[in-house]
Amino acid sequence: MRTTASPQPAPDDLLPQSLAAVAVRPGDRDYDAVRHTYTRLGSPAAVIRVRDQKDIADALAHARTSQVPLTARSGGHGISGRSTNDQGIVIDLAGLDAVEVVDARSGLVRVGAGARWGDVAAALAPHGLGLSSGDTGDVGVGGLATAGGIGLMSRLHGLTIDHMRAAELVLADGSLVRTDADHDPDLFWAVRGAGANFGVATAFEFQTDPVREVTAAVTVYDAADTAAFLTRWGAAVEAAPRAVTSFLTLVTGPGGGAVAQAMTVYAGTDPAAVGAALAPLLLAGPVLRNHAFVTPYHRLLPAGHGPQHAQQPLTVSRSGLVDHITEPTAEGIAALMGAAGMVQLRSIGAAVNDTPPTAMAYSHRTQNFSLMAATTPALRDDLDQRWEQLHSHLNGLYLSFETRTGRRQLNDAFPGTVLDRLIALKAYYDPEHLFDNNFALPSAPFQH
Ligand SMILES: Cc1cc2nc3c(=O)[nH]c(=O)nc-3n(C[C@H](O)[C@H](O)[C@H](O)COP(=O)(O)OP(=O)(O)OC[C@H]3O[C@@H](n4cnc5c(N)ncnc54)[C@H](O)[C@@H]3O)c2cc1C
Repeated sequence: MRTTASPQPAPDDLLPQSLAAVAVRPGDRDYDAVRHTYTRLGSPAAVIRVRDQKDIADALAHARTSQVPLTARSGGHGISGRSTNDQGIVIDLAGLDAVEVVDARSGLVRVGAGARWGDVAAALAPHGLGLSSGDTGDVGVGGLATAGGIGLMSRLHGLTIDHMRAAELVLADGSLVRTDADHDPDLFWAVRGAGANFGVATAFEFQTDPVREVTAAVTVYDAADTAAFLTRWGAAVEAAPRAVTSFLTLVTGPGGGAVAQAMTVYAGTDPAAVGAALAPLLLAGPVLRNHAFVTPYHRLLPAGHGPQHAQQPLTVSRSGLVDHITEPTAEGIAALMGAAGMVQLRSIGAAVNDTPPTAMAYSHRTQNFSLMAATTPALRDDLDQRWEQLHSHLNGLYLSFETRTGRRQLNDAFPGTVLDRLIALKAYYDPEHLFDNNFALPSAPFQH
């Protein structure tokens, strides 16, 4: 059984008066509902349900003077569990969840950082608009939109951050900035991939796409011959038209062999086009079950807003990006199954790779798959040994699926000059390293 440190309330005289009304502290009725996240039990001294920039600025000032741990939280679905803490303060953005269609004709929308992606999709649907964001409706806007956003239409529409047109952030000094291509463009570049290092994002503007009904197919394969299956599945996905995006989850089946479930979305409903596009995927391996259906896109990611209580036991997660699933790569991924509770591959490529690598801090624009392997702490070392064997076949890393924060992870996430540029911007925008909770950038470039 997991235990946490017993929470201590923040002394009243330390919390600014302006925050007392919106602070939830140990002993308060709502405390149990806000202290934990999806992967971590927490014991914060205060969860500040911020209403506006001033609350955030006050919370930042308080964290700086009292030197307590500081955490920003949007949806609480961060896989690293860094959106709660022990004895510190949590800036909870859940109340900043408005979804506003700024211009229905052009598709420009403004979304609060505290909204959940399922609610965003549902709010955009009546306007015939959509934004590819991820596969889970309860994931928060702020965490995903500061890192990337690999969604169920990513091969057609690119990453979520490829659609960002502006971001509003409260910086370390408490000021609110609206950054876009013409205003603080360096900050705008950094926010799209390394956002959590630069401030507390309060809202974003996105250029959405016309999105109505899609065809979804859930296919279960016998993947006991795992490497051969993955090689065929990978080749079929890469050869598929851009309208096809497929996410694959591998688990160990009851008989000990791997079973794979693919969630494949064809962004359209024309039966002939759907049939032609999806048929090659069915040849990747023996199909145990296949169910295809037409649905409004937003129904694929409902937001349940269920209580968070570290319900995800697979708290160790490894992330890598893959150019092509070659035979050696497939063998390396298959070997992970011995130590991972779950292995996932999300297709990227196609439209994701239309954006130049220099456009934003997320610079990975040649890869076709995002790989994640998750396990329990007990199997961490075993998984890491297997991951080491695979590492030379990977090309980069997506931060949202990684729980380690070392130098190699930063280099893999921000290759070449990207990391040096981020470090220089960090020194300018967050010189005191107030925002070091999530993949902290170092103060000086690593010595190569
Ligand atoms: C079940 C599940 C499925 C997922 N599927 C996908 C997927 O298909 N595609 C994909 O791309 N990702 C996916 N993810 C990963 C997800 O995008 C990240 O975990 C993301 O960080 C979660 O966002 P959140 O706001 O809920 O996180 P939170 O837990 O609230 O925050 C995560 C971290 O982001 C930072 N942060 C949060 N909000 C802000 C803010 N407003 N300003 C600055 N920093 C902030 C904080 O430092 C925090 O530590 C999935 C995660 C889960 C748990």
